[in-house]
Amino acid sequence: MSCVFCKIASKEMKSTVVHETDGLIVIKDINPQAPTHLLVLPKKHYSTILECDDRDLLAEMLLAAKEVAKKAGVDEKGFRLVINTNDEGGQTVFHLHMHLMAGRSLAGRMG
Ligand code: AMP
Ligand code: ZN
Repeated sequence: MSCVFCKIASKEMKSTVVHETDGLIVIKDINPQAPTHLLVLPKKHYSTILECDDRDLLAEMLLAAKEVAKKAGVDEKGFRLVINTNDEGGQTVFHLHMHLMAGRSLAGRMG
């Protein structure tokens, strides 16, 4: 198993976990692009969102993102959820994940 996010999800590799359910884990991004930058990772491996048709899991990812946004206190000011997909989408780690970014104005820009 060479996938870095599989290793993180199974706790074989260290990360800062902020939230966990049976199906997913939420960690701090190692190279934050915003004051709050979290990653929502399913525990099961899907290379990209294109491989994942599990509606319950996809819904669970969105619900977890809302919950951690509230827990981090960024819900009122606002936050951004992003799923980069394949090369032109900017995906660098090929294990499905959703970014939650907040803590600075992201208005008017995509990055
Ligand atoms: P993406 O470009 O959408 O594939 O995003 C991958 C993200 O994973 C980047 O923001 C990286 O900083 C982050 N990342 C890579 N390795 C780790 C790690 N070991 N722990 C936490 N975040 C990581
Ligand atoms: Zn994986």
